[in-house]
Amino acid sequence: MKKIFLLALITCFYFTGLMAQTAKYVVIVSVDGFRPDFYMDKSWPAPNMQQMMDRGVYAEGVRGIFPTVTYPSHTTIITGAMPARHGIVYNTPFDMKGLSGRWVKDAKEIKVQTLWEAAHQAGLKTASVSWPVTVGAQIDYNIPETWSETTPGDRRGATSQDATPKGLFEEVQENATGHLQANDLDLHYLSMNENLGRMTAYLILKYKPNLVTVHLPCTDEFEHMEGREGEGVRRAVASADRAIGDIMEALLKAGIKDSTALIITGDHGFVDTHSSLAPNVWLAQQGLIGVTPDRGNWKAAFHSSGGSAFLHLKDPKDEKTLQQVKKMLSELPYSQQKLFRIIDRSVMDKMGSDPEAALALTGVQGISFNNNADGPILKPAKGGAHGYFPDFKEIRTGFVATGAGLNMGTVFPEIGLEDIAPLVAKLLGIELKQAEGIVYPGMLMSTKK
Ligand SMILES: [Zn+2]
Repeated sequence: MKKIFLLALITCFYFTGLMAQTAKYVVIVSVDGFRPDFYMDKSWPAPNMQQMMDRGVYAEGVRGIFPTVTYPSHTTIITGAMPARHGIVYNTPFDMKGLSGRWVKDAKEIKVQTLWEAAHQAGLKTASVSWPVTVGAQIDYNIPETWSETTPGDRRGATSQDATPKGLFEEVQENATGHLQANDLDLHYLSMNENLGRMTAYLILKYKPNLVTVHLPCTDEFEHMEGREGEGVRRAVASADRAIGDIMEALLKAGIKDSTALIITGDHGFVDTHSSLAPNVWLAQQGLIGVTPDRGNWKAAFHSSGGSAFLHLKDPKDEKTLQQVKKMLSELPYSQQKLFRIIDRSVMDKMGSDPEAALALTGVQGISFNNNADGPILKPAKGGAHGYFPDFKEIRTGFVATGAGLNMGTVFPEIGLEDIAPLVAKLLGIELKQAEGIVYPGMLMSTKK
């Protein structure tokens, strides 16, 4: 009897320890194309991020997922799972008819539990602004990243339609941003970051959600156009930092700053590019893909994802075609072979990449990929790209966090993108099923026993 009592007591302590909530509120800000140098190198115009680094916990780099692209990465941030498990393996799924394809926006396509769902199950309130793959998501106050395929330049109609509860997009315009014009939610204008920051600040003040997620997209756009060090990138970093400042002030005004953990992270780093490679041209030379718009009677195709390209076989069991492609790649002249390396299936399994791809190519720095099956094998490109295999410094994203439950003055040389969601779950005292990441004890404030 005594033993049972003791066991019950230990179990009780264990679970109290495991599920103890150390932050009543958590805010995750994802800056698209966020790089550690934005906070570690004080020459970037980002005082909020840099002061957070001085006061909190940060990583010198966050290893991303493969491919290092926006939608799969954001889904890893919010689930702690790798793409093969969470189901969002590309921005645009492989599709022989379109190749450029549609973006995955519907939350139903996520196959594992999200932080929002876990929070909801624990009776906590959630809000989200402009987060990828959130149309129809279980979020109490949700303004998803969405646009109509017919009018991609004007996001207002789709946002109004997909925001929940109904009328939320109108509510934030009335109370936070003022009436929005089409170009106020356009990636090319930094006012988009500012408007998203104001919407988030409003939702915090008005509803005090326990978990808030927001995605600020403009930095990515300018890094694509200008490369890592462009003038526009500096302005975009300043605008993201300004939005973060608005969010910090909202936490202060709402009286919840001391009970909130604020996390700034991102989805991938960036690489400067000079040339774009078209590996489908090699497949066309082998007769494995047609050059007509419908690609003819194809057997194999590369699906480009920026800095990498994934090989798909029409018949996944077609070993003969796979061997033909491997042989062709091994026999290319060195002048072409040196532009990329092959990521084989066993490495992709470890990284949780698209289970349906037979292999992938990842570019050396400077090389990105396109889907063309005719024309030159290599054409000029400019600006920046991501999507590369995540094993070098420039492609890493960042992580800096401060506030309730978090340690101060700790530096991590590297964490994984999948480690963020378990940390958030731990801070909120909720259980996140299916997460593959781990919580580093040094991130958390030590509690007296
Ligand atoms: Zn991105």
